[in-house]
Amino acid sequence: MPPLNPIFANLSTSIFEEMSLLARQHAAINLGQGFPDDPGPADVRQKAAQAVVEGWNQYPPMMGLPELRSAIAAHYAAHQNLELDPERETMVTSGATEAIAGALLACIAPGDEVVLFEPAYDAYLPLVKRAGGVPKFVKLRPPDWRFDLAQLKAAIGPRTRAVLFNNPLNPAGCVYDAADLAVLAKALEGTDAIVIADEVWEHVLFDGRKHVSVLAVPELRTRSIKIGSAGKIFNLTGWKVGFVVAEPSLLKVLAKAHQYITFTTPPNLQSAVAYGLAKPAAHFDAMRDDLQARRDHLANGLTQAGFAVLPSAATYFLNVDLGPMGLDDDAAFCRRMVAEAGVAAIPVSAFYADAGMRSTIRFCFAKKYETLDAAVSRLVDNASRLLAARA
Ligand code: GLN
Repeated sequence: MPPLNPIFANLSTSIFEEMSLLARQHAAINLGQGFPDDPGPADVRQKAAQAVVEGWNQYPPMMGLPELRSAIAAHYAAHQNLELDPERETMVTSGATEAIAGALLACIAPGDEVVLFEPAYDAYLPLVKRAGGVPKFVKLRPPDWRFDLAQLKAAIGPRTRAVLFNNPLNPAGCVYDAADLAVLAKALEGTDAIVIADEVWEHVLFDGRKHVSVLAVPELRTRSIKIGSAGKIFNLTGWKVGFVVAEPSLLKVLAKAHQYITFTTPPNLQSAVAYGLAKPAAHFDAMRDDLQARRDHLANGLTQAGFAVLPSAATYFLNVDLGPMGLDDDAAFCRRMVAEAGVAAIPVSAFYADAGMRSTIRFCFAKKYETLDAAVSRLVDNASRLLAARA
């Protein structure tokens, strides 16, 4: 084997791939990897199909189709009260992961420190390291996953170049509000660190909660990069159309990273997303209501099956605390559950760099009611066997 980059050479396959593979092998119901089984809005998909057949299929502009950039600015003005200049402050990427990679490459030089919140989405740490960043962790714990000023101050120092902040937070399903963002702003006072805000779940909030973007906080407005995702907004996770929003001097440098990662994003999908972003507020309300009902349905079922369900305020996910069941190895439990009960979930320890937090597993509820019911009845049928092995 020639020597390859050790960060990737030593990396295991992502937990989502691993659990989806196990789910296929065991013909299990897959409540692991987060994707809805709803096909997504028919009119948006129709627009994409039409654009493939009748529209432009050559390179679109590197920054994104003008119609989509305008739609992004108009959408965030309508839904988050943000004032954005589409030409100088928005850019289209091939998914939010590309945007995160590009933002890290653009912001940090080798040796710079990057603050990460744990649980951290699985892509973050390898991307930070590959960009030469030195991770500093803020550890969040269930059931409320909150942070305070002292915790942030302990992680932020003179070498902090960026803070990678995911709100709402996957896999926790929690939402940070204006007061939490004020704490973040306070912790960053006197530093020149940039906030890379992964806000891909901005539309998937429940119980009437409202998303507050980092860009809505005056102290953070010019030092933050907001990242969004059409995949999550429209339940079309395979589309990989993302957006970056940042003030012009930041965006200019981010664009340089983007131009040598993917350069552009399929124009037909961009047109369809531009169309979708202009849909009336009622569309997004209905999407949230629908997912909220599925969340409640799965939470009730799991509670009846004997699981301690943690609150979920956002995302496609809810978590279960294994502690009350006397279990302390979430990864081992997930492997047994997929093999013995035929239900796949995600061990939350996969989102921590060390093995300290191993009592929580994540279920995806963005599924058909029949699928959720079938998963719950499999868990009920196998509960005694799953629990028997706890010793
Ligand atoms: N975002 C998805 C999740 O959290 C996973 C995406 C992937 O498989 N890379 O489940």
